[in-house]
Amino acid sequence: MEKPIRHLLGLSGGKDSAALAIYMKEKVPEMEYFFADTGSELPETLEFVNIMQDYLGKEITRINSGRDFEHFLKLKGNFLPNAHFRWCTQYMKLAPFEKFVGTDKAITYVGIRADELYREGYLVSNKSNIQAKYPFKEDGLLKEDILRILEDSGVGIPKYYNWRSRSGCYFCFFQRKEEWVGLYENHPELFEKARVYEQFHHERGRNYTWSPGESLDHIIARADKIKAEAEVRYDAKRAKNLFEAVLQEEDDAPEDQSCPICSI
Ligand code: SF4
Repeated sequence: MEKPIRHLLGLSGGKDSAALAIYMKEKVPEMEYFFADTGSELPETLEFVNIMQDYLGKEITRINSGRDFEHFLKLKGNFLPNAHFRWCTQYMKLAPFEKFVGTDKAITYVGIRADELYREGYLVSNKSNIQAKYPFKEDGLLKEDILRILEDSGVGIPKYYNWRSRSGCYFCFFQRKEEWVGLYENHPELFEKARVYEQFHHERGRNYTWSPGESLDHIIARADKIKAEAEVRYDAKRAKNLFEAVLQEEDDAPEDQSCPICSI
């Protein structure tokens, strides 16, 4: 007898996948939840995944590559990943996901919203046995709907949204400059690890910086200016609470176009 189709929903630790899990909980009771843990996640992300597991009342399977970032860094000739060469997503997120699915026929539910047209076509998987479904797009749900789902459920918004706009690795190159400052202020030990990776490249005569055109040292040297510019841009200081701050935040900049499996 043919195996039934698996229904899968990946929690990234971000708000949209969390809201989707809440939205789909009653609609697809047989849903399997998973979280692709790179081993370089923020503590707040891991905490939020635990909160989601309690809410869903079902295990969220933690999947990983079995290797750490440094292993893959060596494998890639010590070249750090970047927006054009995302070997990190491939090795540390997509490959463990595809192994988790194996040859089973599966539908993976992705939390791309109706207002995120620019994300269309982003890689979910190359495997023909895995189909993607986008319930928020199909049902026309927008950012404010997603935030309302999180508020009404009592789950709320992940704590890192106080200083960062997405889940994903602490060193993710999709971070905005003010988010690097946030990492420095909230997790100085993780910032230092990212700085050491960058330094490692400089010592080998490469110009690569995690943040385009500027080293982490330079970012911290002008942290006050970066924060002031960010406040003007996002108006977050004038927002009444985290809900409004996240709602007001722009998220259609090129640096926001990370892969769904990392940050939706
Ligand atoms: S979160 Fe960023 S650094 Fe981590 S795997 Fe995804 S793209 Fe790469």
